[in-house]
Amino acid sequence: MRTNEPLSVHTSYAIGGPADILAHPADQKDLILLLQAIKTQKLRYFVLGGGTNLLVRDGGFRGVMVSLQRMHAIKVEREYRSIGGSFVVICAEAGASLVKLLSFSVEQGLTGLEFAAGIPGTVGGAVCMNAGTSLGEIGDIVESVTLISPDGVLSTRSAEEMEFGYRTASIPEGHLVLEVRVVLRHDDKEKIKARIKVLLNTRKQRQPWGLPNAGSVFKNPQEESAGMLIESAGLKGRKIGGAQVSEKHANVIVNTGKAKAADVLELMEIVKEKVLEVSGVRLEPEIKIIGEDA
Ligand SMILES: Cc1cc2nc3c(=O)[nH]c(=O)nc-3n(C[C@H](O)[C@H](O)[C@H](O)COP(=O)(O)OP(=O)(O)OC[C@H]3O[C@@H](n4cnc5c(N)ncnc54)[C@H](O)[C@@H]3O)c2cc1C
Repeated sequence: MRTNEPLSVHTSYAIGGPADILAHPADQKDLILLLQAIKTQKLRYFVLGGGTNLLVRDGGFRGVMVSLQRMHAIKVEREYRSIGGSFVVICAEAGASLVKLLSFSVEQGLTGLEFAAGIPGTVGGAVCMNAGTSLGEIGDIVESVTLISPDGVLSTRSAEEMEFGYRTASIPEGHLVLEVRVVLRHDDKEKIKARIKVLLNTRKQRQPWGLPNAGSVFKNPQEESAGMLIESAGLKGRKIGGAQVSEKHANVIVNTGKAKAADVLELMEIVKEKVLEVSGVRLEPEIKIIGEDA
């Protein structure tokens, strides 16, 4: 456990004031003890994944940030045959990184997760956000998800019960994702690797590498790309303080060095207003915004 921990160190934006407490439970038992302590002391808490879709305000977070980073096991759970061939179920703990889950599947010669190539963050965060691209989303391959309630009670939900939508999943208030089971299929390792290489190259060309960011800031409105709308509003390169609408991908706001959360938030407001004025479309944030103003 750390106290007064700067969250700028734990977010891909490299932005964010301190959390009163950042806790890294070692296992389920530890997590249950932590949840009990949080309840007894009536503290607020928030689950921190890889912090790659998060904007923490400059005043930080009053309460406990719970990170499941130390709970990161990945294993093959079972195989079964059904219509369409033979399937393999992999079980990953929420703190495992999506990158690690992808490389584990490649090593096993399993296909189905290639869409995740280049998406940072943890498996728990990916489930919560239903992370994906136009090629697929994590919800497409989830068999079930194990959750833990604020009272420490475990329950398992099917993919259907998770109600995956566009960058959303149905997770009851205060619950944490503990484990995820995904269903993959056998394929040739070299073919899988080749597909991943193509996807990573495409990302490299489109994304602003090198400057801290949190991926897409706004959700794509139906049938439209938020990036195109922002570009059409003439906002590429627009800067407030250290925050800038990326020159490479207009739906990404980058931290050019010393951006504050307040800069990013002000820029987001400008983008929303301008896009509404030019295109009549109301953009909604995809990134999660938490914490207090400075
Ligand atoms: C360079 C870059 C590229 C990206 N590209 C994509 C992309 O192509 N597609 C895409 O969908 N996203 C993309 N993202 C956004 C981000 O990577 C995803 O949303 C990712 O799934 C977030 O995971 P995380 O672990 O970092 O979650 P965090 O950012 O830490 O948290 C996000 C939300 O998930 C919740 N959460 C995290 N873990 C748990 C848990 N165990 N239990 C309950 N709730 C939890 C948090 O409380 C929070 O509400 C990109 C981000 C970056 C920086």
